[in-house]
Amino acid sequence: MRTFLSKPLNLALLFAVLCGLTGLMDPLDHIYWNTRFKFGAHDEAPQSIVVVTFDGSATSGNGSLRSTADQARLLEAIKRQVPSRVILDTRIRAGVDPQGDRALASVIKDFGRDITIFARSDRPDQFDGKSVDIPSRRIIGDADVAVAAWDSNLFYYATGAPGTVTVDGKTYPTTGVALAGTTPRRKSKYSPDFAVDPTTLRTIGIDNMLDGNFAPGLLTGRTVFISNVNPEAVKLGYFGQGRLAPYALDIAGAQGARRPFSVDFKWSLELLVFTLLAHSALSTRRRSVKIGWYVLAILSVTVMPAVFNVLGIITLTGPGLAECAFFGAAKLWQRWRRRLQHTSASGLPNLRALTEQRLDAGRDIVVATVGRYEEFLTTLPAPLHGECAIQIARRLSVGSGCAQIFHDDAGHFAWSDEARPLDTQLNHLEGLRALFSAPLQVGDHTFDTNVHFGLDRNEGLDAMTRVNSALASANEALKHGRSVEHFEAKRLAEAPWELSLHARIDEGLRNGDIWLAYQPQWDYRDNRIYGAEALIRWNHPTRGPIQPDAFILQAERAGRIDTLTYWVLENAITSAEELNSLGLRFQMSINLSAQMVDKPSLVSSISEIVRRRGIDCRLLTIEVTETSSVHNRPAARQNLALLRTMGFRLSIDDFGTGEASLSYLAELPSDELKLDRRFVSAITTSLRNRQIVSSTIGLAHALGQTVVAEGIEDNDTFEMLRSMGCDFGQGYFLGRPQTFAQFRSHYLDLAQGDQLTNLATFKDC
Ligand code: C2E
Ligand code: MG
Ligand code: MG
Repeated sequence: MRTFLSKPLNLALLFAVLCGLTGLMDPLDHIYWNTRFKFGAHDEAPQSIVVVTFDGSATSGNGSLRSTADQARLLEAIKRQVPSRVILDTRIRAGVDPQGDRALASVIKDFGRDITIFARSDRPDQFDGKSVDIPSRRIIGDADVAVAAWDSNLFYYATGAPGTVTVDGKTYPTTGVALAGTTPRRKSKYSPDFAVDPTTLRTIGIDNMLDGNFAPGLLTGRTVFISNVNPEAVKLGYFGQGRLAPYALDIAGAQGARRPFSVDFKWSLELLVFTLLAHSALSTRRRSVKIGWYVLAILSVTVMPAVFNVLGIITLTGPGLAECAFFGAAKLWQRWRRRLQHTSASGLPNLRALTEQRLDAGRDIVVATVGRYEEFLTTLPAPLHGECAIQIARRLSVGSGCAQIFHDDAGHFAWSDEARPLDTQLNHLEGLRALFSAPLQVGDHTFDTNVHFGLDRNEGLDAMTRVNSALASANEALKHGRSVEHFEAKRLAEAPWELSLHARIDEGLRNGDIWLAYQPQWDYRDNRIYGAEALIRWNHPTRGPIQPDAFILQAERAGRIDTLTYWVLENAITSAEELNSLGLRFQMSINLSAQMVDKPSLVSSISEIVRRRGIDCRLLTIEVTETSSVHNRPAARQNLALLRTMGFRLSIDDFGTGEASLSYLAELPSDELKLDRRFVSAITTSLRNRQIVSSTIGLAHALGQTVVAEGIEDNDTFEMLRSMGCDFGQGYFLGRPQTFAQFRSHYLDLAQGDQLTNLATFKDC
């Protein structure tokens, strides 16, 4: 069923059938026929008929046919003109004037079979067989009687008539059939021929008729149609002409009834023809033949009904037109969608098309991104852009064995691949990469290409998410110069958290879920705790404790690191002030994210805080690390120099690791080196590390700097560092990071006695 409904023609057919059954498109049918007969070719009305009526062009309007005497008089006058036939279409009121009745009966009798009496009801469109006024047989004798009965559309326009109707158990022909003089077909219907132009009918006013005021011989040998109907009666519409006197409809009906045959197919024939023709068009490949079928299909709902009408075949055009319009619109929409799904330059389907595909189970999504793709395009003339993409897609298709490669203009190529075991898949992509070792030749241009892959293996997810995941991974692979980046499902689960981190950090600060831990720092010279490093902590109510390394990075990405840093500074100052007030000088260290080091607002923001808090800047140490990611190094240098001038101590954190090395030492101002714990923790076991640490201490001292050893976890390390001449120490052996309350109470205990002996209590926290 889903496949059936996905085809525009089937949908259009269904819609048309629905319209046919409900009559929804009747107004369209009305417009069709009204337009056809308003502007189409017209036939002259049959000149063998002369209408005697009040609205004849020569009438004075005073004539009256109310009494049977008048009617008799008129018939007498007409009879003298020797017509071939008379139609008496007027109400006969028997019993009012017996003399007139007798005269009328006599003249009707004289006409014999040459007179037909038309009987009407006030609502000819709603024939019910009851309200028809059949004149008394006392007057009309054996004369033929015909009854006006029409089918009409929504707007009371006549659309057809039955051949016969039954009144009081007797069968009568309808007026069109009677006027045509054809044998009435019981069940069949006929439709009026609205091509007959009623204005070309010969008419004569009743007055003129009675006065003999007409051309001699006008009525001789003709059918004289005496029309004097109730002006209050409903007038049915005549397509292309509006509402006319009923005789016009009778005459058009007679023309219709004269056709050799008459069939009423309603809307079924048209739908059948259109569907067959449109289907033929769809199954043809050749463009010219396709167009031919489409033209025929359109003609079948526009011209064919009019032609059929001439032949006597009655059809309802609304549903056919609706099917055609629906099908046309659906095809256009399909075309628009297809255009939307194809990139303009290469003609390859774009990534959007891939997202709209149903991905079968056991498929991976791979996105390949081509390094410096935009640069290729800028050097290539526009007509070769498509060629460039096609060549890349061809290589990927050959290498991956996938026939369909999707492409976007930003240089991403995607496909769905068989889900092999991860290692095999990664090797496979690595191999695919090798295909690009040969340069790309586009026109006269040669390019060295370099592709990176993003891989998504999250089968259960929708195609859109998977393509986006693979795309993000491919971009990441390109950014970090890796061949393949595999998108992990857990990263997807992290995405909502990361994306709303902004608000969560604010909430954490408000609720106290984010707090500061203090880790003691030991002074080897004075043998005492001389300071602490403030380390941020986050106990999330649902996610539990979050490692600072993790959320600091996320906060940097979310642009929230400034808020966090200034919050840390404020709180660390509060703690430092309190500890300093206890007597001994206390040094507080805080960490500054590399992202902030080069910010123009950094110095002003920090100085605003220290000025407001009135703290001596010399009591604060700023630890800086990861300086390789600083964008504006001159600005960073200037900021750090300014902070140093203000009195802050500057410390190079994690010294010796990739990001904080000799170049930093040479380039940026500092007072202290913090030896990374990677070296420190191994000094008791590795001679190499011992020598690195010892020479770094020597280097720092030579530069006039002090050294802090991080990560001291045991007494041997602690003592070895002392023997090496290290100035300060920090690590779990000296005390773990702890709440301020814990830190303060232990600090007080230590201050009272021999610090080294009492250190044991600090360590246990
Ligand atoms: P860091 O500045 O190098 O801080 C020292 C880290 O080493 C701390 O980890 C500390 O708990 C840990 N540590 C100290 N002694 C020992 C030891 O003996 N053994 C071991 N194994 N580890 C020890 P933590 O608190 O998890 O902090 C990790 C990193 O997060 C910090 O490294 C720092 O770079 C960053 N960080 C912490 N707080 C802040 C902050 O307020 N702002 C910024 N920008 N970064 C912060
Ligand atoms: Mg630090
Ligand atoms: Mg460190």
